[in-house]
Amino acid sequence: MTSLRKFVGAPPPSPSPKQALERCEMCGVDVASSHNHVVDIDHRALLCVCRPCFLLFTRSDTGKFRAVPERYLSDPSLTLGEWQGLGIPVGTAFFLRGETGLAAFYPSPAGATECLLDLAAWTDLASSHPLLASARPEVEAILIREVSGTVECYLVPIDACYQLVGTVRLYWKGFDGGTEALSAIEAFFADVRSKAGA
Ligand SMILES: [Zn+2]
Ligand SMILES: [Zn+2]
Repeated sequence: MTSLRKFVGAPPPSPSPKQALERCEMCGVDVASSHNHVVDIDHRALLCVCRPCFLLFTRSDTGKFRAVPERYLSDPSLTLGEWQGLGIPVGTAFFLRGETGLAAFYPSPAGATECLLDLAAWTDLASSHPLLASARPEVEAILIREVSGTVECYLVPIDACYQLVGTVRLYWKGFDGGTEALSAIEAFFADVRSKAGA
């Protein structure tokens, strides 16, 4: 699990628009601030890439470089009781499949933090919620949040998890996060919800 932890513990891509133009980390051309990403499996790194470089790696589930897909999906049928049955001790968690298996993480002010996952309970839940088993290894994650007595469940690209972890690291203050963190997290989930058509 070491490599996976290192992967999600890596610094997120800078959320600040430090410059109008960034460069493709594969071929060096300028890319817009909104661009695609490729995971470098060996180095556990997320590379910012131009569209042509991105398209080189969209078909591979096994190569050293893998394009981060752009799809967002939701499973509105997951119930609060089912979520609580997993026994995850936090309200927001994401689930990633890597070379060493499935692991659960939550965003914290210290970065992505791993939490214990009952694999049998997860497998059982995935049998009635196929979305949970649909995330592509290394490049997609399942993101679940309990909020106001309900639960939201999404399949998201891995760069969205980096963005969420980066948001929490950047804004979280004190015990409950503070209003700035909470509104940034709400904005993040509103964006996910709209991309997933939920
Ligand atoms: Zn490129
Ligand atoms: Zn980037």
